[in-house]
Amino acid sequence: MSEILLSKSAYEHNLTQIAKKVGSKKRIISVLKDNAYGHGALLMGKIAKEFGIEITCVKSEIEARELAGLFKSIIVLSHLPNGNESGEFIYAINDIRALEIIRPGTQIHLAIDTLMHRNGIDVSQIKSAIEIIKRRNLDLKGAFTHFRASDEHGADYFVQKDNFELAKIMIRELFNKELIFHSHNSAAIERASDVGDEYVRAGMAQFGYSGFDESLGLKKVLKLYANRVSSRVLKAGQSVGYGGVFTAKEDMNIATYDLGYGDGLLRYNGKGELYLANGEPILGKMSMDSFSSIDMGERICVFDNADIWAEFFDTINYDILVKLSPTIARRVVE
Ligand SMILES: *Cc1c(COP(=O)(O)O)cnc(C)c1O
Repeated sequence: MSEILLSKSAYEHNLTQIAKKVGSKKRIISVLKDNAYGHGALLMGKIAKEFGIEITCVKSEIEARELAGLFKSIIVLSHLPNGNESGEFIYAINDIRALEIIRPGTQIHLAIDTLMHRNGIDVSQIKSAIEIIKRRNLDLKGAFTHFRASDEHGADYFVQKDNFELAKIMIRELFNKELIFHSHNSAAIERASDVGDEYVRAGMAQFGYSGFDESLGLKKVLKLYANRVSSRVLKAGQSVGYGGVFTAKEDMNIATYDLGYGDGLLRYNGKGELYLANGEPILGKMSMDSFSSIDMGERICVFDNADIWAEFFDTINYDILVKLSPTIARRVVE
């Protein structure tokens, strides 16, 4: 059976490194959206909670329900307001119109658009937003922004930081209650010299991938394994798999392993060389539920570093990990 192994010690190491950087584990918001980037939200959430993380961020209410009870606060990032919001969760406000629809009394964090122009209210809308919040008795708990290019050396990060500082001052003036503020995602945490009094939203870094700075010494949490379904001799001149795109030059012992694009791997079409963790290539086209390679025994590591696959498919490591099907068995190991 194919399987994902998740290293508890690597995960705790990464959270420790991030906590050192931001000053306290209490200020880490663990981003566990999209099944914790394919790792497994409940498995990672339990370790994070045990470690001392109190706040998590997810995409939807469905994801929030999976983690309900584990964390002191669960922030739902991408909710469509409907007037029926749960009192248990905190909802990100991505558009000023949401403030008129969301259920009175609901806990919210205001997203501030500081340059990315994806979500959030403009700094010029803050005054109106606070008026609506007061009129409709919404329970404002915090505000945040998102950097559009914190993984690149450039001025954008500093422009956005300045805009957010201005937003914070305005919000504090207009709304005289205790609030939390957060802006740094993984790459921004890595590049920041100091996050001040803010909380941080740690996504990919907690799983061991660095976008910006290797100095945190992060360790990768996830390893993906496949098991042998069958083996045979592929004789010289014979081809394996759909379309027979790989042909043996000489007799070779090959095996078929139980992972394919139906398990969330991007589909390898048999062109170019895509390598498994031990450096052997996949042979021929990947099937929905399997791929073939040289016979390497009963169990092989497909990858322990998603960067290899991301480079091959000209995408980012997030895209490789997040697609790993929730139906693959997952197990936490030391
Ligand atoms: C996904 C997400 C994050 C986490 O980003 P990483 O690069 O994985 O750290 C932080 N904030 C928001 C709003 C997000 O959507």
